[in-house]
Amino acid sequence: MSYEAVIGLEVHAELQTNSKMFCGCPVVDATIAAPNTAVCPVCSGMPGVLPVVNQKAVEYALRVALALNCQVNRTSIFARKNYFYPDLPKGYQISQYEQPLAENGELIIDTPQGEKTIRIRRVHMEEDTGKLTHVIPEQDEPYSLVDLNRSGVSLLEIVSEPDLSTPEEVTAYASGLRDIVRTLGVNSGDMEKGVIRFEANVSIRPIGSKELGTRVEIKNLNTFRGMERAIRYEFQRQAALLDAGQPVIQETLGWDETQGVTYSQRSKEEAHDYRYFPEPDLPPLVVEQEWIDLIRAQLPELPRARMLRIQQQYSLSMDEARMLASDVDTMNFFEDCIQSDASIPPRTVANWIIGQLFAWFNSSGESITSMKIQAKDLVEILRFQQTNRINQTTAKSVLDTMLHTGRNANTIISEQGLEQVSDLNMIEKLINQVLEENPDQVQAYLNGKETLENWFFGQVMRLAGGKANPSIIKDVLKEQLQKLN
Ligand code: ADP
Ligand code: ZN
Ligand code: MG
Repeated sequence: MSYEAVIGLEVHAELQTNSKMFCGCPVVDATIAAPNTAVCPVCSGMPGVLPVVNQKAVEYALRVALALNCQVNRTSIFARKNYFYPDLPKGYQISQYEQPLAENGELIIDTPQGEKTIRIRRVHMEEDTGKLTHVIPEQDEPYSLVDLNRSGVSLLEIVSEPDLSTPEEVTAYASGLRDIVRTLGVNSGDMEKGVIRFEANVSIRPIGSKELGTRVEIKNLNTFRGMERAIRYEFQRQAALLDAGQPVIQETLGWDETQGVTYSQRSKEEAHDYRYFPEPDLPPLVVEQEWIDLIRAQLPELPRARMLRIQQQYSLSMDEARMLASDVDTMNFFEDCIQSDASIPPRTVANWIIGQLFAWFNSSGESITSMKIQAKDLVEILRFQQTNRINQTTAKSVLDTMLHTGRNANTIISEQGLEQVSDLNMIEKLINQVLEENPDQVQAYLNGKETLENWFFGQVMRLAGGKANPSIIKDVLKEQLQKLN
């Protein structure tokens, strides 16, 4: 039987406001701050305290909702989601349930078959929980440490419809969302720091079937690559179960990145297990239409619009624009290059990013943000090529050295004596030498084997140590060969 995957994504993005969602505690970098240094009675769940909504967080949430073309509910309701866990000192999480902040949005992604619209079911506000660190000492009993710095930080949950069908589509959607929250300035997109987190709901069904299969929910997906692997693994696992006539069990799974397997965490809880009820300590959240309109009017250029603008403004092909738009950082890098030197044709810049840099990322595992060079460094090398100081082959090898070492083009070129030879006399001498040393080939050429011209070219370039100006060689070689005729 052949199956297709059906995937829906739940995305949690912290809203990186200065203070937390319901108290005045600062939002600190959880990977740096000392544990439990940004806590107060509200976010540590002391009795007798009252939450107050952070207006900035609502504004940030509205930015995202509007960027995703959602309908905003002018009135939304905070609800208590009750469960016990040590990272949740109140015993409940303030979230939104029945009337979320926004609903019915969409995000367009690119797939090999063209554009695809992924529907967004809801966008709601909630608070983050604390962080547990589980310690298993060699000698002693295991224990867990609780850090409440993250407890009460504003969190936005964005829930898609199950419209995604492949791991690649999931990455396109997830990275599209990540780019949007970054562009809106509400989240740094730092997956390693856990400020944006993804959970994938995965089911399979026979191709052609319209019914949904039983889904699992996969947690702790920390990288796009890991998420893709987890989904592929689940697809295989569920297909094997169904092929063997066994049911898929609805449950919550974890993803073990090192073993490359999913594992059962707990059986899936149902909404009624949480005993949701309206938060009695907070009134309904009412947002004025004028405020919504103002936020909409102030939205920055969003990634997809930016891709289309880049394509038109710099006369690129749609494919080139799409590649550059694979993330915000690449678009930034591209436009930084053009800003730093407008004399280099945008298409040249685009081709070098898509060709040379992307190849480097594939082979080295580096990325546009982790690599050792900046926009101005790429521009420098392109300028050297543009002004004929080096030829294209040399430019590529210099770039390679730069990517490996982080040293600048000028230094590498002068140290290794890579400057292009454009001296006419010198090139003429080399050509004559090649023609004199290869009388047989010259004869063959004169007898009509014209393709030997390329061979002569190669010999001259070899004598010049790869550094001669190719167009000068071509011109002079043509002249000399014509003289022989
Ligand atoms: P919860 O996980 O809290 O129970 P929902 O029922 O709203 O929440 O569903 C969460 C996610 O699961 C949504 O993104 C939705 O698209 C996705 N989903 C629902 N049913 C399926 C299914 N059969 N296969 C894959 N994904 C599904
Ligand atoms: Zn607090
Ligand atoms: Mg869920």
